[in-house]
Amino acid sequence: MIQSDLSLLQFKKRFASERACEGALEKLRWPDGFVCPKCKHVKASRIATRRLLQCSKCRHQVSLTAGTIFHKTRTPLLKWFWAIYLAGQDKGGVSALRLAKQLELGYKTAWLMLHKIRKAMAQRDSDYTLSGFIEMDDAFFGGAAKGRRGRGAANKTPVLVMVESQGEKAGFIAMRTLENMQKDQVDQAVEGWIAPNQSIRTDGHKSFLHLDALGHRHDGTPVPPQKASEDLHWVHIAISNAKRFLLGTYHGVSHKHLQLYLDEFCYRFNRRSWEKQITLRLLTACIFATPVTYAELKG
Ligand SMILES: [Zn+2]
Repeated sequence: MIQSDLSLLQFKKRFASERACEGALEKLRWPDGFVCPKCKHVKASRIATRRLLQCSKCRHQVSLTAGTIFHKTRTPLLKWFWAIYLAGQDKGGVSALRLAKQLELGYKTAWLMLHKIRKAMAQRDSDYTLSGFIEMDDAFFGGAAKGRRGRGAANKTPVLVMVESQGEKAGFIAMRTLENMQKDQVDQAVEGWIAPNQSIRTDGHKSFLHLDALGHRHDGTPVPPQKASEDLHWVHIAISNAKRFLLGTYHGVSHKHLQLYLDEFCYRFNRRSWEKQITLRLLTACIFATPVTYAELKG
């Protein structure tokens, strides 16, 4: 069993070599022990140089990394594990430039690794839907600072922000970039991320007026600006934290990649009370994520 609460020193000790990382990967993929997919035999030996497990009976070979984000990577697992540690631990996120320096990687490799990790975070959160009392609002991210601000601003990306409000604290959050704030776009995001028949509070903007028709209980009483921090408290905190996160580490991001960075923000926010376990949770998310290619990520 791998310890779930790891300090930096414990992490360094536990994952000190390529072989230790392979061992951890094997344990996480086959927590009840290896079973040969061909003959069901339970013993295998590791061909370390090729990241393979070979069944001791029928000699069938299984790749340790197949079906994980590490598949076919030429980067040592040791560096991948460190990247996951740094991406999980740093609340502000880690930039590709910093990761490249710290782990002695090329910039493109570091960028790709971080994007694959973000994709794994996104896949993990896509298993959840929001329920209960939900605050919802739109926010506009990116683009030039000049010109109109807020709704209708050119070259900014609209983002639908949804937060479970549990009074004194926020629950789960989700953020979805949209093409525009038209009904079909909003509907699609709401149907994908909110469980049926929930209570939703918005500021009553016309983009939200059909939420009742989707089967939700919608309170769209207009919110005067001076009351916004009370009536839509958590959603506004989430929006300002996300904007700070994007500016702080990434100095703003392009429209094309905005969703993945928001996914990273939401993933960490949604696990803020499990901070000490985040490395192992993220490692598990990366092992069970569907692999993606550079071309797919580059879009
Ligand atoms: Zn076998």
